[in-house]
Amino acid sequence: QAKACGRNTYRFHDPAVQAAWTARAELEGAMRRALRHGEFVLHYQPQLDRSSRVIGAEALLRWRLPDGRLLYPAEFIGAAEESGLIIEIGRWVLRTACAELAHWQRHPDMAGLTLSVNVSANQFTEADFVPMLQGIFEETGVQPASLKLELTESLVVSDFTQTARTMALLKQRGISFSLDDFGTGYSSLAYLRKLPLDQLKIDQSFMRDVLTDQNDASIVRSIIALGDSLGLQVIAEGVETPGQRQFLSDAGCFIYQGFLYQHALSAEHFTQYARSAH
Ligand code: C2E
Ligand code: MG
Ligand code: MG
Ligand code: MG
Repeated sequence: QAKACGRNTYRFHDPAVQAAWTARAELEGAMRRALRHGEFVLHYQPQLDRSSRVIGAEALLRWRLPDGRLLYPAEFIGAAEESGLIIEIGRWVLRTACAELAHWQRHPDMAGLTLSVNVSANQFTEADFVPMLQGIFEETGVQPASLKLELTESLVVSDFTQTARTMALLKQRGISFSLDDFGTGYSSLAYLRKLPLDQLKIDQSFMRDVLTDQNDASIVRSIIALGDSLGLQVIAEGVETPGQRQFLSDAGCFIYQGFLYQHALSAEHFTQYARSAH
């Protein structure tokens, strides 16, 4: 129970709660500063087909602190969601990703690559999400047909009607959709069939022990079969070993993302990698 002590100041009876609250407030302040000072960066993790050709990338958010340390989403995305800052950060992510994609589209040898961008539920259900994105397309001159938005099952389940409507609108603009971390949530087959999805992304938690755990192996095979029968592309994330990759291709999955190939790279390094790995 917090007691107000003047403007924006609260005291908690429990020092641990007080400390956690202060830490969270500091993190929020630091994220606002990060937005203003350009401390966020996107890295790009390659996605490859069965001939190990680069077909695209996933944009992954990082935070470069003034002292040079690089923070990963696990350390701040939760706080960004809870504070509502994810809306502004997410807008920055989309603008930056679209500008980069527009840049690729001007290089003959990168023009065909797709770029996947993670979109959080709060962001996707914002009333002005579609016009905001439209504005970014005009501003960056990107061809939206090679933009893919990664949504999560929890978003789809939490507000099916609104989500389906927004997806349909964006679909008309040529955008495609991937269901991220697939298999960890609660989406029903009925949802999958009714949404204009293009891709299922097998969650990396199933990949970890896929060669030794019969249950994980069965789940991965089922997701691939499900994707095939619904006409959806299936991509596996968290592919770390040649054995996992072999398992996937034996099971009929031919698009891969993971440390076996590359970690997420800076825009410059991704460009070098994609242009040399043709
Ligand atoms: P995700 O979308 O499922 O992204 C995949 C995560 O797996 C990334 O972690 C990636 O670096 C990591 N990864 C890739 N290959 C491998 C591998 O072979 N092995 C293992 N163990 N991990 C691998 P990262 O970059 O730390 O991102 C974590 C999560 O943060 C993402 O999970 C996504 O949910 C969220 N996220 C990242 N960028 C954004 C963003 O721009 N906006 C939003 N809303 N969320 C983001
Ligand atoms: Mg993702
Ligand atoms: Mg994922
Ligand atoms: Mg994940």
